[in-house]
Amino acid sequence: MRAAEVVALPAFSDNYIWLLRDPETGEAAVIDPGDGAVALAGLKARGWQAKQIFNTHWHPDHVGGNAEVKAATGCTITAPAAEAARIPAVDRTVAEGDRVQVGALDGEVWEVPGHTLGHIAYVFREAGIAFVGDTLFAMGCGRLFEGTPEQMYASLQRLAALPGETRVYAAHEYTLSNARFATHVMPEMTAITDRLTRVEADRAAGKITLPTTIAEERDSNPFVRAGNAAEFGRLRAAKDSYRS
Ligand SMILES: [Zn+2]
Repeated sequence: MRAAEVVALPAFSDNYIWLLRDPETGEAAVIDPGDGAVALAGLKARGWQAKQIFNTHWHPDHVGGNAEVKAATGCTITAPAAEAARIPAVDRTVAEGDRVQVGALDGEVWEVPGHTLGHIAYVFREAGIAFVGDTLFAMGCGRLFEGTPEQMYASLQRLAALPGETRVYAAHEYTLSNARFATHVMPEMTAITDRLTRVEADRAAGKITLPTTIAEERDSNPFVRAGNAAEFGRLRAAKDSYRS
């Protein structure tokens, strides 16, 4: 397995901007810089220079800092082809099967529609990491703003088929709310109730709950565990109206 350095930069109320660095070459990238100042401060604090930005989807809390980071660093911006018209300062558009490189780290682009129609994930198989934006969360998944339950269910099942040890970098700290909902709908599952206890302790201590792993999500994410798209759709609708 190839080593990769990944750093979380908290932004807004519950976003994470991720920095990815190849320790071999020192090349770095920013994933979804919703807040340019936060991304630049995070790079500066580590003495890292970003050569690239990768966007997962067009929502402003993921792309709002694109122009600021590009102006300060001269980096190039890679974004989903299907949403490029709604994303600032794009240099390269990518779609299913395209490849991206951060130094010696090689990633592939997966189209994972559901949260938005053009949403993509960046999967670095050799490094065992995946940047999934607002598709898969720890114990949850993104809202269906544009796609259908069938699309999102297929996207989640595809991600869930990655090797269990794959580390999953989602873009929001929603784990506590997700864990409470998961416990509400699957109270008999100890993998879920035990994880809620751990998440409550972590959040009370101010700790980040990401990355998660594919194995953990197979065990304790109700949306991943749903048996079919219809069951997934019912769960997603129930979560939309759930107040913990
Ligand atoms: Zn979003």
